[in-house]
Amino acid sequence: MKIYNLVILGAGPAGLTAAIYGRRAGLSSLVIENETQGGQIRLTNSIENWPGTISISGYDLGENFYTHARSMSVEFLLATVEKLRLEQGRRFVLTSVGELEAEAVIVATGARFNQLGIPGEVEFTGRGVSYCAVCDAPFFRGRTVAVVGGGNAAVEEAEYLTRFTERVFLIHRRTEFRAVRHLVDKVLANNKITPVLAKTVTAIEGNIKGVTRIRLKCVRNGEESSLDVSGVFIFVGIIPRLDFLGDFLKTGPGGWISTDKHLAASQPGFFAAGDVRDTDLRQVVTAVADGARAAINAYRFLNNPK
Ligand SMILES: Cc1cc2nc3c(=O)[nH]c(=O)nc-3n(C[C@H](O)[C@H](O)[C@H](O)COP(=O)(O)OP(=O)(O)OC[C@H]3O[C@@H](n4cnc5c(N)ncnc54)[C@H](O)[C@@H]3O)c2cc1C
Repeated sequence: MKIYNLVILGAGPAGLTAAIYGRRAGLSSLVIENETQGGQIRLTNSIENWPGTISISGYDLGENFYTHARSMSVEFLLATVEKLRLEQGRRFVLTSVGELEAEAVIVATGARFNQLGIPGEVEFTGRGVSYCAVCDAPFFRGRTVAVVGGGNAAVEEAEYLTRFTERVFLIHRRTEFRAVRHLVDKVLANNKITPVLAKTVTAIEGNIKGVTRIRLKCVRNGEESSLDVSGVFIFVGIIPRLDFLGDFLKTGPGGWISTDKHLAASQPGFFAAGDVRDTDLRQVVTAVADGARAAINAYRFLNNPK
């Protein structure tokens, strides 16, 4: 079994940056990915908050990270991570194609937004359907959008969207929002936000240019209606991609990996970076910063294991 200095789980912005920094520090580095290199950003048409680049497609940015990592002789393995273990001070990563040994491991498997699972959602993702107001709000300047969800994220993001949009329909399937009271009061007082309660979104429709309309159903009487919107922001939960973790590493509320200030997780030699970590902002810039820090701290750990 080949032993790597550094094994990185996930080839998103965090994992690819960790690989670049790992190689620059002279560590043999392997990245394990089970989909396509680049991570979640591959899903979005345009990124406009990657400093130094006014606009770039998510696909191109992901490809740039990947090409950079490859140019540094990072190794890649197409496989699904299934289990981690630490045995007599040795670290093992079980994958769908076999087991590997690593002197240090960085978990960078990212997150996944819960989807509504309705017609049009996948088709219009990146073309009107978004899961991130911070990322996409400026594309909807002066337009009308819908926000779906009733928790803190939905209510906060609806409020944020009013800085750009003309009008926001805040749609929730229950008769009351679940968000904390002061946030609810704030959105209810905002005249750009129209609450739409006790309704579910049943379909997202549009044309070649993007979303034009959503279809709704009343949960009380089944009555159907529709709203003309250019965008649909869905906030019905975000979850870490950690099916393989079990209780191997300590996690915080929501199941995100807990780390110390050096991004070390609860087992020696295991680090976490990017969206998968218990953190307060999930963006490309924060993921790459985490990747760099995790790799350098892994390097320090290898030189001075505690
Ligand atoms: C539609 C959309 C638009 C966005 N727009 C922006 C934007 O404009 N600006 C911005 O800054 N951020 C944006 N984001 C957020 C940004 O994409 C994330 O913050 C960033 O990708 C996080 O990087 P990461 O490396 O931590 O995780 P991810 O990008 O999620 O990468 C994790 C990788 O790990 C892989 N993986 C997961 N589980 C396993 C496993 N068991 N085995 C092997 N591989 C595994 C995944 O396939 C994935 O490739 C957007 C996100 C989405 C979904």
